[in-house]
Amino acid sequence: MVEKVISATSKVIPIRIDEGKGLTPSIGGELLAPHDRTQDTRGRTLRDLRISVTDRCNFRCTYCMPKEVFDQHYPYLAHQELLSFEEITRLTTIFSTLGVEKIRLTGGEPLLRKNLEVLIEMLAAVRTPAGKPLDLTLTTNGSILRKKAAALKVAGLQRLTVSLDGLDDAIFKEMNDVDFPVADVLDGINAAQEAGFENIKVNMVVKKGTNDHEIVAMAKHFKGSGIILRFIEFMDVGSSNGWNMAEVLPSKEVIARIHEVFPLEAIEANYTGEVAQRWRYADGSGEIGVISSVTQTFCHECTRARISTDGQMYLCLFANEGFDFKTLLRSGKSDLEIANAIMNTWSVRDDHYSEIRGSHTANPSTGNRKVEMSYIGG
Ligand code: SAM
Repeated sequence: MVEKVISATSKVIPIRIDEGKGLTPSIGGELLAPHDRTQDTRGRTLRDLRISVTDRCNFRCTYCMPKEVFDQHYPYLAHQELLSFEEITRLTTIFSTLGVEKIRLTGGEPLLRKNLEVLIEMLAAVRTPAGKPLDLTLTTNGSILRKKAAALKVAGLQRLTVSLDGLDDAIFKEMNDVDFPVADVLDGINAAQEAGFENIKVNMVVKKGTNDHEIVAMAKHFKGSGIILRFIEFMDVGSSNGWNMAEVLPSKEVIARIHEVFPLEAIEANYTGEVAQRWRYADGSGEIGVISSVTQTFCHECTRARISTDGQMYLCLFANEGFDFKTLLRSGKSDLEIANAIMNTWSVRDDHYSEIRGSHTANPSTGNRKVEMSYIGG
């Protein structure tokens, strides 16, 4: 384990917990034909996959990759530790034989991964056993979208989520901590629209006392634009963001504040397991969403697995251990063996972190640790 002392806070902050040496997945004895019915111990089926393509980011958002921890001494993964595009595509193809239809590329900042559009083209060619293409999407901070949007679209990316925590430059710069202006993210979103992306979402992490006064301004800005704005409760991911419940603004308060100015009505989820609760403007000018992983947990519906930048499979965003699929991929195992290892790993899944938060929140002073979001993928 790598540890680092942060003098500003005098706390020992654990960095990456297992340094890529995760648990060994079990292939099992008798190999089963891949199928889409594997359930975990809580009856949840595997349906979507998030893949972190880089653990690096050009932002230092204080709630995600604070500068004090993610500085020039931070032990980022070396290139050979990263899954290659071929490995990611192979793994995705195997996951698709197990019922996964939705893939989200994330990070770190995924657009920093060199030639990402080549990977997108490879993933866009994957078909489910029923012959359907995968629902392929990506989450980005938008900083280099102007440069990349057209190539991403041509490569076959279907949807995009852009993170933006406010419209006030001073607040946004304080949160991204690299002096990045709002205008350039908005320009990236414009570039995505110009490139032909129709299904764009914007994610705003709400930190009470920091950017919560930006909620209504953000709603007003995106209302009627066709872009779906989603408000995310500040979560206790990782071990380095100094999470504190007092900084969480419950989603119901976000809704109340917007409703006061622009009346809202609740609407049905698009599908079981959708993380955002949907609301539409009563005047018909679009919808917004809230992601309430702190105050209204949705573990019971979670159908998501995550692959870290170096090929560890995580069963929960708040996990502290992953399963080492990179070693399986690199040790000559067949697709059938890897499929069985995924089914076996998923079938023992028992986590429901958000439902039992509190005693499990990372606390450097007690040694209670969790893996960082930039590595596991947000
Ligand atoms: N760099 C990309 C981006 O900025 O969207 C992708 C990775 S980022 C980790 C994915 C999402 O997680 C972003 O929308 C980010 O705001 C969100 N996020 C990061 N830390 C968070 C936290 N502590 N609580 C809630 N959301 C968080």
